[in-house]
Amino acid sequence: MKQPSILVVEDESAIADTILYALCTDGMHAEHCTLGSEALIRLRAQQQDLVVLDVGLPDINGFEVCRTLRTFSDVPVIFLTARHEEIDRIVGLEIGADDYVVKPFSPRELAARVRVILRRARQAEPVAALVMPAAEQAEAFRHDPEGARVAYWGQWLDLTRYEYRLLALLVQHPGRIYARAQLMDLVWHDALDTVDRIVDTHVKTLRAKLREVDPMGEPIRTHRGMGYSLEV
Ligand code: CA
Repeated sequence: MKQPSILVVEDESAIADTILYALCTDGMHAEHCTLGSEALIRLRAQQQDLVVLDVGLPDINGFEVCRTLRTFSDVPVIFLTARHEEIDRIVGLEIGADDYVVKPFSPRELAARVRVILRRARQAEPVAALVMPAAEQAEAFRHDPEGARVAYWGQWLDLTRYEYRLLALLVQHPGRIYARAQLMDLVWHDALDTVDRIVDTHVKTLRAKLREVDPMGEPIRTHRGMGYSLEV
């Protein structure tokens, strides 16, 4: 397997050095830059396997960097944050992060999280492996596992990685109720410290995208105390 390449975006050189050291010791190839603008230039030019992104950068803050990054790339992102108030935004994943660590942190712990996320990214296929015959899929939806996309009433949806995996799973088993914990296992398997809110947040953003196609349809149903299902 090729050596994973990680871009570390951190303006404090002492912190960056310990991260680079921990990642390299773990057999990863890590590069470093200190500015958000520079990170975006590099990420446009060269594909990375993962980005470690500090929230507090001297030019553009990490949230903005991530938001821009998501317009052209699905590369996994781990945020470094010094402030507990920022965690809610990160955990809500509204900005498309995969995980976070709070400063001060142990570089070993960060390296472990990087490994978990790289493994998770490589395992992105299980949803496709579960594909059901077309007749058993919910009719309003069309799942194209090879293109990793889902159409709703004939319209391909613009989904983030986890929104796609969540919807693909529901579409393949219409009517089946999935508990949050099951969704965590099947969609976010291997995630460390993930919380129920991650599922809820993704259901919310997914519903908003489905509503754009069909304002009246509410195909994802909440079963109070039980979980979610797809009803069509
Ligand atoms: Ca900083």
